[in-house]
Amino acid sequence: MAFSECGHTARRLGMLTAVHVATSSRNWTLSALSIVVSERHTDTSGIHARRLRSPLQEMSMPQVMSRVARAGLATNALARAASKAQPVARTSDFGFAASRSVSRPVRAMASAATTTEKVAEAPKPIYLKDYTAPDYKFAKVVLDFELGEEVTVVGNTIAVEPTFTAGGDPRPLFLNGDPTVQLESVTVDGTALDAADYVLTPKGLTITAPPAVPFELKITTTIKPQENTELEGLYKSSGNFCTQCEAEGFRRITFYQDRPDVMSEFTTKITADKAKYPVLLSNGNLVDSGELDGGKHFTVWEDPFPKPAYLFALVAGDLGMIEDTFTTKSGREVALRIYVEEHNLDKADWAMVSLVKSMKWDEDVFGLEYDLDLFNIVAVDDFNMGAMENKSLNIFNSRLVLATPTTATDMDYSAIEGVVAHEYFHNWTGNRVTCRDWFQLSLKEGLTVYRDQEFSADMNSRGVKRIGDVARLRMSQFPQDAGPMAHPIRPESYIKMDNFYTVTIYEKGAEVVRMYETLLGKDGFRKGMDLYFARHDGQAVTCDDFLAAMADANDADLTAFKPWYSQAGTPTLDVTTEYDSDAKTFTMTCTQSIAGTPGQSDKSPVLMPIAVGLLAPDGSDMELVLDGDAVKGETTKVLRLSESSQTFVFKCVGEKPVPSILRNFSAPVRLTTDLTQEDLIFLMANDSDQFNRWEAGQTLTRSLLLDLVAKAGEGETLVMDQKIVDAMRNIVNLAKEKGADKAFIARAMALPSEGELSEMVSPADPDVIHAARDFVVKTLAKELKSELMWTMKDNTSEKYERDGESRAARTLKNMCLGLLSYLEDPEIDAEALARFKSADNMTDQISALSALSGRADCEARTEAIDMFYEQWKHDPLIMNKWLGLQAGAALPNNVENVKRLTEHPAFDIKNPNKVYSLVGGFVGGTPTNFHAADGSGYEFLGDIVLKIDKLNGGVAARMVGGFTRWRKYDEKRRVMMKAQLERIVGTEGLSENVFEIVSKSLE
Ligand SMILES: [Zn+2]
Repeated sequence: MAFSECGHTARRLGMLTAVHVATSSRNWTLSALSIVVSERHTDTSGIHARRLRSPLQEMSMPQVMSRVARAGLATNALARAASKAQPVARTSDFGFAASRSVSRPVRAMASAATTTEKVAEAPKPIYLKDYTAPDYKFAKVVLDFELGEEVTVVGNTIAVEPTFTAGGDPRPLFLNGDPTVQLESVTVDGTALDAADYVLTPKGLTITAPPAVPFELKITTTIKPQENTELEGLYKSSGNFCTQCEAEGFRRITFYQDRPDVMSEFTTKITADKAKYPVLLSNGNLVDSGELDGGKHFTVWEDPFPKPAYLFALVAGDLGMIEDTFTTKSGREVALRIYVEEHNLDKADWAMVSLVKSMKWDEDVFGLEYDLDLFNIVAVDDFNMGAMENKSLNIFNSRLVLATPTTATDMDYSAIEGVVAHEYFHNWTGNRVTCRDWFQLSLKEGLTVYRDQEFSADMNSRGVKRIGDVARLRMSQFPQDAGPMAHPIRPESYIKMDNFYTVTIYEKGAEVVRMYETLLGKDGFRKGMDLYFARHDGQAVTCDDFLAAMADANDADLTAFKPWYSQAGTPTLDVTTEYDSDAKTFTMTCTQSIAGTPGQSDKSPVLMPIAVGLLAPDGSDMELVLDGDAVKGETTKVLRLSESSQTFVFKCVGEKPVPSILRNFSAPVRLTTDLTQEDLIFLMANDSDQFNRWEAGQTLTRSLLLDLVAKAGEGETLVMDQKIVDAMRNIVNLAKEKGADKAFIARAMALPSEGELSEMVSPADPDVIHAARDFVVKTLAKELKSELMWTMKDNTSEKYERDGESRAARTLKNMCLGLLSYLEDPEIDAEALARFKSADNMTDQISALSALSGRADCEARTEAIDMFYEQWKHDPLIMNKWLGLQAGAALPNNVENVKRLTEHPAFDIKNPNKVYSLVGGFVGGTPTNFHAADGSGYEFLGDIVLKIDKLNGGVAARMVGGFTRWRKYDEKRRVMMKAQLERIVGTEGLSENVFEIVSKSLE
């Protein structure tokens, strides 16, 4: 999946709001939401938050007993099974024995439950170490959906095959389920089972003694998709039926071994009212369709590729469609179709263009072709995540499909391009080769994020793309790695899988994949990929299998690389240097360490590639001769650090160089060096590695800002360092040069965010950080006003174009406007308003609005906000931008505005996009509002999380992530945030999703 991303930064976070933010220099930070995740994946995961209370309240005594029995493995059949050679609690989710309960009883469940019930119901973590392969495989599955307005009937016929040899006691077959699924009947080889033959609980259905030979299992269930607000399983969005099954949504449709290592061939029949639902889609090829009595019709779909249930999809609705074709390199003609609501048909072209480019790129770069004759994308408005890679039927959050220049920003376009590619690339990395269990999620997500990053780099500016990806990693993932939810890219345990669709799994996972490429080279990486597919096509495998393929294809020993999968936390890399002018050697001493993280105090050193260059005094790259390395003529060398500390010696270094360390951010670490301010200014001007040129400026301004934060904290007068002003002036003036890389210049003008700074200060006082950063931005805006005005005007074009150069000029112009808005000058306000009114595209319009959005008591602001609403109130996606912009604005006491907006017709608490925009926009917006000293921002978040949790636990869990870093802050704020967490965890009927995040935050 893709998170719901916010443009670059946000796209994985599921917050729309950051998109525009990022287009202006107004600094929003998403770090408070770091728990949330990465944007691309949307991962949806999971089970929909079954309410903890629901199981108990509607159960008869025998049901309660059977549930308790299941938890304690007490039925006869189960007891027999448990005494066998594999004493596994087969009734647990996923084939993992639920071996431990959470350490504390759950207060949330205390209400009506007896002690026994409480114990039975406590959310239990599932552990990687408890994995066992399934006892039964499903060779074929035939699903039969009768979609109805009141009730939907689901027939599910499975060809079951035991994986063990016949003989001995029967082994129970556990099928995951959900309290929202009503069991109507179950038969084995045509004979109906009676109640004594199975155990039904809120977690699933156990057939206690199935045949030990192949048999046909038929289950009929009824569900009510129209009442499904969790948006997992089968649900309705804007009147259409759609599904989201990753990670654990399929069990909300029917009883099934809902685990990724059970792969099956699916045939799906869909029957529905023809007038209401003219389009009926599922995975694979359409093999039959026809009319039925009573105004109904049907389709039958066959997917020849075995897949886990999480890749199942169904769509039924009244949708329009655009169509194109793609011919694969081996000549297969593929029909490409994008389904959207009729009135949005003019907005789907960019998604189609992106799809065609992705298909071609995957053939060119990885030799991977599409494997069916049809590829469908469907856009839906109500979607928890960004998009989902269901085999041949991708389902997308509509904001990642729909775009025209007047309705979508340049960042929206990039997000669409990246996410369409991401989901398409999953066809191989995720679908053809899938994960054995959900602990291996990064196997498909880290790899696919890496692939979509490379695709976007090839389609756009490689250096600027890399800078954006690293900035996001630092803003969202580094805080997660340093907080209570820190987990390795292959976690050891979880309560709700939904909560592990994180920036760590996605973004750090992608960095880990990138390190293989850096260590093995592009060709070596490709060889590893080829071997991975040759070995594992059609299988459900592990991260270890991927590492083994990389190692074996290159005859490399990657043992020292393994801790990247098992260790949480961001390593620190310290590099000190020494030049010996007599020996003409340059020595680098590299030392690595990782701080302890929850549950992991002992860490091992890990193999990391450190890409290094040496700059001569004239700014050119030196040719590098590394002691012990025969390769000559290179100007970048990759050092392999695998010990705690190692020394590398460069020979024949004629003059004292300035080192460029960790080029292209070759490992996801925090770097400290002995570079001086002069060295950094030199690198900013000269480094041939674009990433490090940017990084030098960031390091410089970060240290200036941290100095000022310390001074502001002491109440000292703040003084700007003239060297920084001059360095920034040089950057802005680069735009005057012919052929200037304006996208890079805009990036280099952006200062480290308040969120990034707060991670480096302990304890963090958001008011002080805000004051220091605001001082720097205002001073720069004042000192550079004429340069900024000139650059803004010089890059203003008559007419909208979408080519790379025009987009770069637009970004730079809007960056200038954003900086100028800090002057709080009525002339600039008037300029912004004029630009707002004359804008012929959404990027410019929203940037001008953003420049005004933080201006208190400003008529131009009010006018623009109202005009924008009147112009776009018919378009829900654009209203997300309107909500997000206001939510994150740097207005005093903005929480009151945000509360009012929760009552506004443009807001809908059931729609994840709206929640991400308004609530996420507030939490990730101006820190002085969310962290207001009176606690009003915290109280607002606490209140609304509890409201959202009643509807959608997954979305609520993302929002409550705003509190997870509470220990970072000053005493007063710590107390208030902790109080909110305690209030939430003590609330009755909490979802498991929110429970897990909150209880871990409090541990
Ligand atoms: Zn994905």
